[in-house]
Amino acid sequence: MSAPLPPFAVTTVGSWPRPRWLLEAAKRRDPDLEALRDRAVEEAVRDQESAGVDLVTDGEQRRDNFYSFLCERVDGMRLMTMADLLDFVEDKAAFEGMLAALDVPAYAMRNPTVTGPLSAKGSLVLGDVRFVRRCSRKPVKATLPGPYLLSRSAWVKGLSDRAYPTREALADDVVRLLRTELLSLAAEGVEFVQFDEPVLSEVVFAGKSATRTFMCAALAAKASPEGEMRLAVDLLNRVVEGVRGPVVGIHVCRGNWSRKDDVLLEGDYAPLMPWFRQMRLGLFALEWATPRAGPVEILRELPEGVILGFGAVNPRTAEIEDPGEVAARVRRVAEILGPGRVQLNPDCGFGTFAERPVNDADTAKRKIECLAKAAEILRRG
Ligand SMILES: [Zn+2]
Repeated sequence: MSAPLPPFAVTTVGSWPRPRWLLEAAKRRDPDLEALRDRAVEEAVRDQESAGVDLVTDGEQRRDNFYSFLCERVDGMRLMTMADLLDFVEDKAAFEGMLAALDVPAYAMRNPTVTGPLSAKGSLVLGDVRFVRRCSRKPVKATLPGPYLLSRSAWVKGLSDRAYPTREALADDVVRLLRTELLSLAAEGVEFVQFDEPVLSEVVFAGKSATRTFMCAALAAKASPEGEMRLAVDLLNRVVEGVRGPVVGIHVCRGNWSRKDDVLLEGDYAPLMPWFRQMRLGLFALEWATPRAGPVEILRELPEGVILGFGAVNPRTAEIEDPGEVAARVRRVAEILGPGRVQLNPDCGFGTFAERPVNDADTAKRKIECLAKAAEILRRG
């Protein structure tokens, strides 16, 4: 059994930069890849622990990106590069233009694409979590792509419609997959489960700036923002309904594929708050280090009693934040939310995309050390 979490528990959003040798082994499909991935997870966990996290993740070392790994674990999904997908996009020139504007190289990022009926080969992440528990005595956070993201980005016209005529038909199967996994994580006693739903910000902000979007959302058509948000709430609630045990939450940011701040989305969480309040979730891991997220006062509108994962350091910058300044900002947030409701995390992962980490492991470590120092200050005071 793991120890209970201290106040202002420090954690990551999920991904940790992968070592070069792991990326090279994956590229050449090394026969020992599984053993190498084990070693990378051990190192990522050790790095997190020595930096001072209270809640560990596997650093997503086994993943190509935060949602692509499902292709290895689910029949009916194929990993396709943006270059592969170009063949299925109606307006190729516009799509290429968008990738360029977004600072997304078409070959470096891969999208899990549905090409047949989905069926899990085994567990999605339970095996990974069990491995982390062999490396660490700390409580664990499992990260999984959210049901809205998956049903939105994995359904591509011309590839997915034979198995699923509509995105909604696919969504039913995605809910079934994720719910099954969540129940097995709960049975295992996993403490936290985070569903990544970054695209929700795109849903509410994209109207304001048509050129800024998420590359993983760029392929699929969508309904009105309200229709999309209603669907997202419904899918998440269906996944978590009646599940007891873990604190289940979501992570929503404004994109993490580039260090160029001006290509990422901008806007505060205000338009999302009414939808957050309809989600039967216990944790919201949100970004606040970037000024693009707006002022913290909006946190008053978070659902009552939930835990906030407060993004207190920027994963995309080289400078290390000042722990005293971070602590002062968190103190203000703790005043708004009440005691015992704040965890500290970076705004997003340090290596959302394996080939394009937004920082190196050393900087990631120092950013987490900053959070740990800030937590110490907060616990003292
Ligand atoms: Zn993120």
